Amino acid sequence: MRLRRFFRGIEIPGMRTERGVRMRRTRISRVCLAVVMMLLGLADSSSAGGEETTILTNVNVIDCTGAPVQENMTVVITGTTIISITTGEASGLSENPSTRVVDLDGAFVLPGFWNMHSHLSEVFPDNPALADEPIHARVVRAGINAMDGLRHGFTSVRSAGEVEYIDVAWQQIFDQGFLIGPRVFASGEAVSPTAGHRGMVADGDDGVAAVRRAVRTRVQHGVSAIKIYNVEMLPDELEAAVETAHSLGVHVMTHTREPGAYAAVAAGVDCLEHGYGLTDETIALMAEKGTFYDPTIICNLSDQYIREREARLAVLGHSEDTEIVRLRTAIAYADERSPEFAVHQRLALVKAAEAGVKLLIGSDSMPVGEIGTLEMEQFVLSGVSEMDTLIAATRNPAELLGLEEMLGTVEVGKLADLVVVKGNPLENISNVRNVLMVFKDGIEVDLDQKLGTARYWDYFSSAGSMSGYLGKAESAAGFQRGESGSANQPE
Ligand SMILES: [Zn+2]
Repeated sequence: MRLRRFFRGIEIPGMRTERGVRMRRTRISRVCLAVVMMLLGLADSSSAGGEETTILTNVNVIDCTGAPVQENMTVVITGTTIISITTGEASGLSENPSTRVVDLDGAFVLPGFWNMHSHLSEVFPDNPALADEPIHARVVRAGINAMDGLRHGFTSVRSAGEVEYIDVAWQQIFDQGFLIGPRVFASGEAVSPTAGHRGMVADGDDGVAAVRRAVRTRVQHGVSAIKIYNVEMLPDELEAAVETAHSLGVHVMTHTREPGAYAAVAAGVDCLEHGYGLTDETIALMAEKGTFYDPTIICNLSDQYIREREARLAVLGHSEDTEIVRLRTAIAYADERSPEFAVHQRLALVKAAEAGVKLLIGSDSMPVGEIGTLEMEQFVLSGVSEMDTLIAATRNPAELLGLEEMLGTVEVGKLADLVVVKGNPLENISNVRNVLMVFKDGIEVDLDQKLGTARYWDYFSSAGSMSGYLGKAESAAGFQRGESGSANQPE
């Protein structure tokens, strides 16, 4: 496999091992051992290695390999691993006290979701109350965002640019088991030339030697991916970034727009972010070279798009929490960074899907959970099939990380990163909002918000930072809010 080389150097965030030490080989050998034991008949479904077993029965499985739904199934998790998936309800299974049977009444089991474009510590639009926020407070906020995302079903998060290696810090905290959070695939800060990102980078890395050093420094700090701003890079700098990252076993994602998008694909970048103005020629080259596409379609919203989305969600009953509706609408307008591309990007996304380009779900905006879920809904609203959308949130990200043999699908032998939802997301993608259970590495995540624990949303609303701003945004979108606080349906 083209990406197999990445597997060599990457540790798998989120692994539980003895004494808190992350050892990729230990995990692989344990999975192999479990599979071998089953083949030899040495393990039953309740007692492999004396670990706890959870049996999910009366479930429908969407395994995200592309296969159709498997109805009326039983999924058995022992320790960290899925050890069997069988037809029919659980019966004749061991009554071992370490075994728990959960009857899910026809709910749907999917692989855990991945949000492939996150900035854990970012609040956008800016909250003035956070202007003088000290770095240690920012670090805590990033972790709360990640943990909130896990409760929405995002068992993995790729960071696409983060200050002060905050993402690496949380990757380590979760991996060491101090708190339960998603697997974090960190990138540190983006590598950029001076005046990169449309002039926003004041003091970047210029020239081949500086780019190589920047990439190596990040890998030395523990990142799993390199983010670059390639539009302003010269060809030798772009090549140096790709060559150096690949030599160290990590992949490269680039924030890009045309004509830089084509140049990035040609230079061997593994994954395009945004890809504003993506041309047919670039899409064809991506399909040929196996380049992944993380469109962050939420960065290209028009009024019409936001209205369509909110009308749809209101009909489906996902607008009862009016505070969340208010905030996600505000974020949508804050993200209206390139509305001139709104129509083009929807079409480009569908063309890419039809051409066989591997798509990824990435929210760019925060929170990881809510906006990641919105991105899935916006894929479908843009014309991507529900199945391709779910695969963009599961199997494709695992493949980009070279972890497709461990994660990304619901199959025997894989790590038990799972989401259980009520209702079929292939019939209605918004059913991914109806999360009943989340498992990360075989551990069931507590979905209840603890007393004394603020929701991540509170960072957006605490200072009333959006009053005025939001009113303008809403009236631009044609929303009229009654006394009940619920949005009227747009025409
Ligand atoms: Zn971003």
